[in-house]
Amino acid sequence: MGGRTEMLTKIENVWVLNPRAPLSLRQSQSHAVDVFYGCVIIKDDTIIYAGKPEGWNDDGGLAGGAQDRQFDTIVDGKGKVLIPGLINCHTHVPMVMLRGLADDLELHNWLEQAVFPIEDRMTPEDVYWASKVGIAEMIRGGTTCFSEMYFHMDAVAQAVEETGIRAVLSRGFAGSGDDGGAAKLADGLDFALRQRNGAGGRITTMLGPHAPYTCSPDFLREVAALAAEHQLPIHIHVAETAREVSEIREQYGRTPVELLEDVGLFGTRLLAAHGVHLNDRDMEILAARGAAVAHCPASNLKLASGIAPIGRMAAKGINVCLGTDGAASNNNLDMISEMRLAALLAKGISGDPTAMPAADAMHAVVAGGAQALALEGVVGSISPGMKADLALIDYQKPHLTPDANLVSLLVYSCRADDVTDVMVNGQWLMRDGLLQTIDEYEAMEHCNKSIRRIKGSL
Ligand SMILES: [Zn+2]
Repeated sequence: MGGRTEMLTKIENVWVLNPRAPLSLRQSQSHAVDVFYGCVIIKDDTIIYAGKPEGWNDDGGLAGGAQDRQFDTIVDGKGKVLIPGLINCHTHVPMVMLRGLADDLELHNWLEQAVFPIEDRMTPEDVYWASKVGIAEMIRGGTTCFSEMYFHMDAVAQAVEETGIRAVLSRGFAGSGDDGGAAKLADGLDFALRQRNGAGGRITTMLGPHAPYTCSPDFLREVAALAAEHQLPIHIHVAETAREVSEIREQYGRTPVELLEDVGLFGTRLLAAHGVHLNDRDMEILAARGAAVAHCPASNLKLASGIAPIGRMAAKGINVCLGTDGAASNNNLDMISEMRLAALLAKGISGDPTAMPAADAMHAVVAGGAQALALEGVVGSISPGMKADLALIDYQKPHLTPDANLVSLLVYSCRADDVTDVMVNGQWLMRDGLLQTIDEYEAMEHCNKSIRRIKGSL
C-alpha cells in the first residue's frame, strides 16, 4: 500500500473538554475549562489537530496536507464528550488481589494483620494477573495513566507493556540500610534505570522509598543522592496518619516534611502521597520545593486517617493531584468517583461550597496529574503535540441530562461505566465498551485462583 506507515485517526462531531489552570493560579472562575465542539486528529501516537471542524477543512497546509489522505479510522463522537485520559497519581495496582480482604482496620493494623501476610505470599505471576485486572478496571473508567509503587515490579511493567496503558512505576522499598534495605534500594534503582522509557516510552520511573516512618534518615539520604545522580523523581507516602507525625516528631524532633527536607529528598521532583496531616510550614516547604501531593480521599476515609486540607494546600500553590491508593483501602480504582469525592469533601470540611470547583477537580485528574508525574507537555490536555491519551464519555443517559454543563456532568454526575472508548498513545484500548488489549475474564480467573491459593496457605 505505497509504503505508508503512519496511522491517521479522526474523532469528529464531539464536545472536547480541556481544563485550564486551577482557581488558585487563575484568580477568576472564568475560562476554567476550554469547551469546544469539533474534531480531533491523531497521527500515530500524537494529537496533530484539536479544534473546530471548519478549521481543519480551511487550513490547506495543516499537517502536511494530511486532510487529503484517507483516515484509517473515523469515530463519530455524536452524543459524547472527549476528555484527556484520567491520571491516577497514587496506587498499588496489584493490591487488587486484597480487595475486600482487609476492611475496617486502622492503617498500622491493616498493614500488619491483613496486608503483609498476603503480600508475603504473592508471586510475580500473582502480581502480573492482579495488575491486569486493575488495569482493565482503570481503562474501563477512563484512566490512561497510573503512578505505581509496589514489588515484583517487572511483572507490573510486563502488564503495562502488554495492555498499552501508560504508567509511572516505582519499586517500593523501606529500611535502614543494613537490614536488607540496601539491597532493596539497589533493586529499586536497577528497576528504575532499566525500565525508564520502557514500553515505547509509555513507562517512566521514579524511586519509591515507602515513607519517613519506614525508612531511616540515613537511608533516605542515600536515596536522595541516588535520585540526584540519576535524575529520578521520588514517590513517597508522607504524613498519612496523625500517628506517623507524632512518632517522627518524637524520634527526630521534626515533622515528616521537615525530615524529608533535612535529608535532601527534594533535590529532584517529589510526589508526596496523602499529606493528610500537614501544618502551614510543611505546606510552605512543599510549595517552595515544587512538590505535588497525591490526595487519596477514599483511602484516607476508609482507614480513618483523616481528610487532607487540600483547599489550604492549593491556596499555598501546591499542585494537588488525585489517587485511588490500592484496592485494599478504597476499594476501587475509579478516578471519576475519586474526583467527585475530592470535590465534595473539600467543601464539607471547609464549610465553603466554592472550594474545589468542578473545573479544578477535573484539572487535578488530567493536567495537574501530568505535572505531578513529570509528564507535562506529554499528556493531560487535548492539544497538538500531546500524546493521544483520551477518553470518550456517552452523555445520552438520564443521569447525564440535560447536557447544558458538561464539566459539571463529568465531575458530579458521571460514573465509570459511562466511559465508552479509551485511547493511550494513539492506540485504542477500549472501543464501544470492549477492551481491545486485555482478556479480562482470563485475568479475573487467574486472580481468583491466586487468592484462593494464598488464603489456603495462611
Ligand atoms: Zn499508598
